Amino acid sequence: MVALTVKLGDITQFKVDAIVNAANTTLRGGGGVDGAIHRAAGPALDLACAQLGGCPTGQARITPGFNLPAKYIIHTPGPIWVDGHHQEAELLADSYRNSLQLALSYGCQTVAFPSISTGVYHFPLERAATIAVETMFDFLGNQTTIKEVWLVAFDPVTAKVYRNKIDEFQR
Ligand code: ADP
Repeated sequence: MVALTVKLGDITQFKVDAIVNAANTTLRGGGGVDGAIHRAAGPALDLACAQLGGCPTGQARITPGFNLPAKYIIHTPGPIWVDGHHQEAELLADSYRNSLQLALSYGCQTVAFPSISTGVYHFPLERAATIAVETMFDFLGNQTTIKEVWLVAFDPVTAKVYRNKIDEFQR
């Protein structure tokens, strides 16, 4: 089984093959983790993102990591939570699945994710964690390229919720 581990920290510091960015559909940077990644990667990232011409919600695009320790950045706009009846769950699963698919096609062995959509996009944390963990385990069990995945939480509450979900899933 591929190791899926929760870490508390700043995803921009992770020396992995790919980090995932909870982007917006413009791919031109924003607040939260997106802003932190753009600041740490340097201005060349925005130039590369400008060439991509945006990305629909739930899809994913890849750029180099530029000044980051990570080799690649996979950008995925997660869904903005409305009321649970706007395909939010499906789109969040798409973000995890499409990001992993892109990591796989670039031969990445180590990948780090933030908690997509649970910041300013207000996806309820428990539900987001259930979808994230189920989608990742489903995908990872059917491939052999990706060896280790980190879910990087920026606060202890988020870390705990994802840890509990992973424990439940593995029980
Ligand atoms: P979204 O718009 O998808 O909700 P946010 O960036 O607002 O994205 O929040 C997603 C999660 O990323 C939140 O849990 C937030 O606390 C976290 N986060 C913010 N900065 C970082 C960082 N540097 N490393 C890892 N996670 C971060």
